[in-house]
Amino acid sequence: MRKQFAVIGLGRFGSSVCHELNEMNHEVLAIDNDEQKVDKLSKHATQAIVADGTDEKMLKNIGIRNFDHVIIAIGEDIQASILCTLILKEMNIKQVWVKAQNDYHHKVLDKIGADKIFHPEHDMGQRIAEFLTSEKVIDYIDLSEDFSIIEIIATKKVIGKTLAEMDVRAKYGCTILAIKHSKGVNVTPNADETIKEGDLLVVIGHKNDLKRFQRDGI
Ligand code: ATP
Repeated sequence: MRKQFAVIGLGRFGSSVCHELNEMNHEVLAIDNDEQKVDKLSKHATQAIVADGTDEKMLKNIGIRNFDHVIIAIGEDIQASILCTLILKEMNIKQVWVKAQNDYHHKVLDKIGADKIFHPEHDMGQRIAEFLTSEKVIDYIDLSEDFSIIEIIATKKVIGKTLAEMDVRAKYGCTILAIKHSKGVNVTPNADETIKEGDLLVVIGHKNDLKRFQRDGI
Protein backbone atom coordinates (compact mmCIF):
# COMPACT_ATOMS: atom_id res chain seq x y z
CA MET A 1 0.00 0.00 0.00
CA ARG A 2 1.37 3.43 -0.94
CA LYS A 3 1.76 5.60 2.17
CA GLN A 4 2.46 9.29 2.63
CA PHE A 5 5.55 10.42 4.51
CA ALA A 6 7.08 13.83 5.17
CA VAL A 7 10.77 14.09 6.06
CA ILE A 8 12.01 17.34 7.63
CA GLY A 9 15.80 17.82 7.57
CA LEU A 10 17.78 16.39 4.69
CA GLY A 11 21.16 15.63 6.23
CA ARG A 12 22.68 12.19 5.73
CA PHE A 13 20.02 10.46 7.81
CA GLY A 14 16.98 12.35 6.44
CA SER A 15 18.10 11.95 2.83
CA SER A 16 18.71 8.24 3.19
CA VAL A 17 15.22 7.83 4.71
CA CYS A 18 13.79 9.74 1.69
CA HIS A 19 15.77 7.60 -0.77
CA GLU A 20 14.53 4.36 0.75
CA LEU A 21 10.89 5.43 1.03
CA ASN A 22 10.96 6.68 -2.54
CA GLU A 23 12.50 3.42 -3.74
CA MET A 24 9.69 1.60 -1.96
CA ASN A 25 7.29 3.68 -4.04
CA HIS A 26 5.78 5.65 -1.14
CA GLU A 27 4.81 9.29 -1.46
CA VAL A 28 7.56 11.44 0.08
CA LEU A 29 7.49 15.14 0.87
CA ALA A 30 11.07 16.28 1.63
CA ILE A 31 11.67 19.55 3.49
CA ASP A 32 14.84 21.44 4.40
CA ASN A 33 15.64 25.11 4.97
CA ASP A 34 18.81 24.73 2.88
CA GLU A 35 18.09 25.12 -0.83
CA GLN A 36 21.13 23.08 -1.90
CA LYS A 37 20.01 20.10 0.19
CA VAL A 38 16.55 20.29 -1.35
CA ASP A 39 17.91 20.49 -4.91
CA LYS A 40 20.15 17.52 -4.28
CA LEU A 41 17.26 15.41 -3.07
CA SER A 42 14.53 16.51 -5.45
CA LYS A 43 14.95 13.46 -7.73
CA HIS A 44 14.39 11.11 -4.81
CA ALA A 45 11.13 12.51 -3.45
CA THR A 46 7.62 13.10 -4.75
CA GLN A 47 8.01 16.74 -3.78
CA ALA A 48 10.93 18.60 -2.24
CA ILE A 49 10.53 22.07 -0.79
CA VAL A 50 12.67 24.71 0.88
CA ALA A 51 11.03 25.59 4.18
CA ASP A 52 11.67 26.03 7.88
CA GLY A 53 10.37 23.12 9.93
CA THR A 54 9.63 25.44 12.84
CA ASP A 55 7.34 27.69 10.82
CA GLU A 56 3.88 26.60 11.94
CA LYS A 57 2.03 28.65 9.34
CA MET A 58 4.10 27.19 6.52
CA LEU A 59 3.60 23.64 7.81
CA LYS A 60 -0.17 24.23 7.82
CA ASN A 61 -0.09 25.77 4.34
CA ILE A 62 1.73 22.82 2.80
CA GLY A 63 -0.90 20.52 4.28
CA ILE A 64 1.37 18.62 6.67
CA ARG A 65 -1.82 17.65 8.54
CA ASN A 66 -2.61 15.23 5.71
CA PHE A 67 0.48 13.20 6.55
CA ASP A 68 0.08 10.39 9.07
CA HIS A 69 3.80 9.99 9.34
CA VAL A 70 6.44 12.70 9.70
CA ILE A 71 10.15 12.05 10.29
CA ILE A 72 12.13 14.91 11.82
CA ALA A 73 15.81 14.52 10.99
CA ILE A 74 17.01 17.97 12.05
CA GLY A 75 20.30 17.27 13.79
CA GLU A 76 22.39 19.87 15.49
CA ASP A 77 19.72 22.51 15.97
CA ILE A 78 18.08 20.77 18.93
CA GLN A 79 15.82 23.73 19.61
CA ALA A 80 14.40 23.56 16.07
CA SER A 81 13.93 19.80 16.35
CA ILE A 82 11.99 20.18 19.62
CA LEU A 83 9.85 23.05 18.33
CA CYS A 84 9.04 21.19 15.12
CA THR A 85 8.04 18.09 17.13
CA LEU A 86 5.83 20.16 19.43
CA ILE A 87 4.07 21.88 16.53
CA LEU A 88 3.40 18.58 14.73
CA LYS A 89 2.11 16.84 17.87
CA GLU A 90 -0.17 19.83 18.54
CA MET A 91 -1.50 19.37 15.01
CA ASN A 92 -2.33 15.77 15.98
CA ILE A 93 -0.04 14.14 13.41
CA LYS A 94 -0.38 10.45 14.28
CA GLN A 95 3.26 9.38 14.03
CA VAL A 96 6.08 11.85 14.61
CA TRP A 97 9.46 10.10 14.54
CA VAL A 98 12.46 12.15 15.55
CA LYS A 99 16.23 11.84 15.39
CA ALA A 100 17.79 12.70 18.76
CA GLN A 101 21.26 14.13 19.26
CA ASN A 102 21.78 13.10 22.89
CA ASP A 103 20.02 11.81 26.01
CA TYR A 104 18.70 15.23 27.08
CA HIS A 105 17.23 15.79 23.65
CA HIS A 106 15.69 12.29 23.85
CA LYS A 107 14.09 13.06 27.25
CA VAL A 108 12.48 16.27 26.01
CA LEU A 109 11.23 14.61 22.82
CA ASP A 110 9.71 11.83 24.90
CA LYS A 111 7.96 14.34 27.20
CA ILE A 112 6.43 16.29 24.33
CA GLY A 113 5.02 13.16 22.71
CA ALA A 114 7.43 12.06 19.96
CA ASP A 115 6.19 8.62 18.90
CA LYS A 116 9.59 7.16 18.10
CA ILE A 117 13.04 8.51 18.84
CA PHE A 118 16.17 7.44 16.94
CA HIS A 119 19.85 7.70 17.73
CA PRO A 120 21.23 6.51 14.37
CA GLU A 121 24.92 6.90 15.20
CA HIS A 122 24.56 5.25 18.60
CA ASP A 123 22.32 2.46 17.26
CA MET A 124 24.71 1.74 14.41
CA GLY A 125 27.67 1.73 16.80
CA GLN A 126 25.87 -0.77 19.02
CA ARG A 127 25.04 -2.91 16.01
CA ILE A 128 28.60 -2.98 14.76
CA ALA A 129 29.92 -3.80 18.24
CA GLU A 130 27.42 -6.66 18.44
CA PHE A 131 28.68 -8.08 15.11
CA LEU A 132 32.31 -7.61 16.04
CA THR A 133 31.94 -9.52 19.28
CA SER A 134 29.94 -12.42 17.89
CA GLU A 135 31.19 -14.50 14.99
CA LYS A 136 27.89 -16.33 14.75
CA VAL A 137 25.33 -13.51 14.66
CA ILE A 138 24.58 -12.36 11.11
CA ASP A 139 21.90 -9.78 11.91
CA TYR A 140 19.65 -8.62 14.68
CA ILE A 141 16.59 -6.47 15.29
CA ASP A 142 15.87 -4.80 18.61
CA LEU A 143 12.19 -5.23 19.47
CA SER A 144 12.42 -3.37 22.79
CA GLU A 145 15.01 -2.68 25.45
CA ASP A 146 14.81 -6.31 26.52
CA PHE A 147 13.82 -8.37 23.48
CA SER A 148 15.49 -8.99 20.12
CA ILE A 149 15.39 -11.19 17.07
CA ILE A 150 18.76 -12.56 15.90
CA GLU A 151 19.86 -14.38 12.81
CA ILE A 152 22.56 -16.86 13.71
CA ILE A 153 24.69 -19.40 11.82
CA ALA A 154 24.12 -23.07 12.63
CA THR A 155 27.41 -24.50 13.91
CA LYS A 156 28.68 -28.09 14.15
CA LYS A 157 27.16 -28.26 17.61
CA VAL A 158 23.62 -28.31 16.16
CA ILE A 159 24.03 -29.57 12.57
CA GLY A 160 22.17 -32.87 12.25
CA LYS A 161 19.99 -32.22 15.28
CA THR A 162 16.24 -31.67 15.14
CA LEU A 163 14.60 -28.66 16.76
CA ALA A 164 13.12 -31.03 19.35
CA GLU A 165 16.61 -32.27 20.21
CA MET A 166 17.94 -28.74 20.47
CA ASP A 167 15.07 -27.89 22.86
CA VAL A 168 15.96 -24.20 22.75
CA ARG A 169 12.75 -23.04 24.40
CA ALA A 170 13.15 -25.16 27.51
CA LYS A 171 16.92 -24.72 27.80
CA TYR A 172 17.26 -21.03 26.92
CA GLY A 173 13.75 -19.53 26.87
CA CYS A 174 14.17 -18.57 23.17
CA THR A 175 12.05 -19.52 20.16
CA ILE A 176 13.29 -20.46 16.67
CA LEU A 177 10.98 -18.51 14.36
CA ALA A 178 12.43 -19.61 11.04
CA ILE A 179 15.24 -21.52 9.37
CA LYS A 180 16.85 -19.92 6.34
CA HIS A 181 18.61 -22.21 3.88
CA SER A 182 19.78 -22.06 0.27
CA LYS A 183 16.33 -22.94 -1.10
CA GLY A 184 14.40 -20.36 0.93
CA VAL A 185 12.96 -19.76 4.36
CA ASN A 186 11.03 -22.23 6.46
CA VAL A 187 8.77 -20.11 8.66
CA THR A 188 7.47 -21.76 11.86
CA PRO A 189 9.47 -24.97 11.36
CA ASN A 190 8.28 -28.25 12.90
CA ALA A 191 9.93 -29.89 15.88
CA ASP A 192 11.25 -32.70 13.64
CA GLU A 193 13.03 -30.27 11.30
CA THR A 194 16.75 -31.15 11.06
CA ILE A 195 19.38 -28.41 11.02
CA LYS A 196 21.72 -28.62 8.05
CA GLU A 197 25.10 -27.14 7.27
CA GLY A 198 24.79 -23.52 6.09
CA ASP A 199 21.40 -23.00 7.77
CA LEU A 200 20.67 -19.70 9.47
CA LEU A 201 18.36 -19.72 12.47
CA VAL A 202 16.07 -16.76 13.18
CA VAL A 203 15.60 -16.69 16.94
CA ILE A 204 13.49 -14.45 19.20
CA GLY A 205 13.96 -14.00 22.92
CA HIS A 206 15.07 -11.91 25.87
CA LYS A 207 18.52 -10.45 25.20
CA ASN A 208 20.03 -12.28 28.18
CA ASP A 209 18.57 -15.59 26.99
CA LEU A 210 19.79 -15.00 23.45
CA LYS A 211 23.28 -14.31 24.79
CA ARG A 212 23.22 -17.60 26.73
CA PHE A 213 22.00 -19.41 23.61
CA GLN A 214 24.77 -17.85 21.47
CA ARG A 215 27.39 -18.77 24.05
CA ASP A 216 26.33 -22.30 24.99
CA GLY A 217 23.58 -23.52 22.70
CA ILE A 218 24.97 -23.17 19.21
P1 ATP B 1 23.02 13.95 9.56
O1 ATP B 1 23.86 13.24 10.57
O2 ATP B 1 21.73 13.28 9.27
O3 ATP B 1 23.76 14.37 8.32
P2 ATP B 1 23.19 16.14 11.36
O4 ATP B 1 22.90 15.44 12.65
O5 ATP B 1 24.59 16.52 11.06
O6 ATP B 1 22.57 15.31 10.19
P3 ATP B 1 22.28 18.73 10.59
O7 ATP B 1 23.13 18.65 9.37
O8 ATP B 1 22.52 19.76 11.60
O9 ATP B 1 22.23 17.35 11.33
O10 ATP B 1 20.75 18.84 10.15
C1 ATP B 1 20.15 18.00 9.23
C2 ATP B 1 19.43 18.80 8.19
O11 ATP B 1 18.38 19.54 8.82
C3 ATP B 1 20.30 19.82 7.48
O12 ATP B 1 20.21 19.58 6.07
C4 ATP B 1 19.72 21.18 7.86
O13 ATP B 1 19.76 22.10 6.77
C5 ATP B 1 18.27 20.80 8.20
N1 ATP B 1 17.65 21.77 9.12
C6 ATP B 1 18.17 22.31 10.23
N2 ATP B 1 17.27 23.13 10.82
C7 ATP B 1 16.16 23.09 10.05
C8 ATP B 1 14.88 23.72 10.13
N3 ATP B 1 14.56 24.55 11.11
N4 ATP B 1 13.98 23.45 9.15
C9 ATP B 1 14.27 22.60 8.13
N5 ATP B 1 15.46 21.97 8.02
C10 ATP B 1 16.40 22.22 8.95
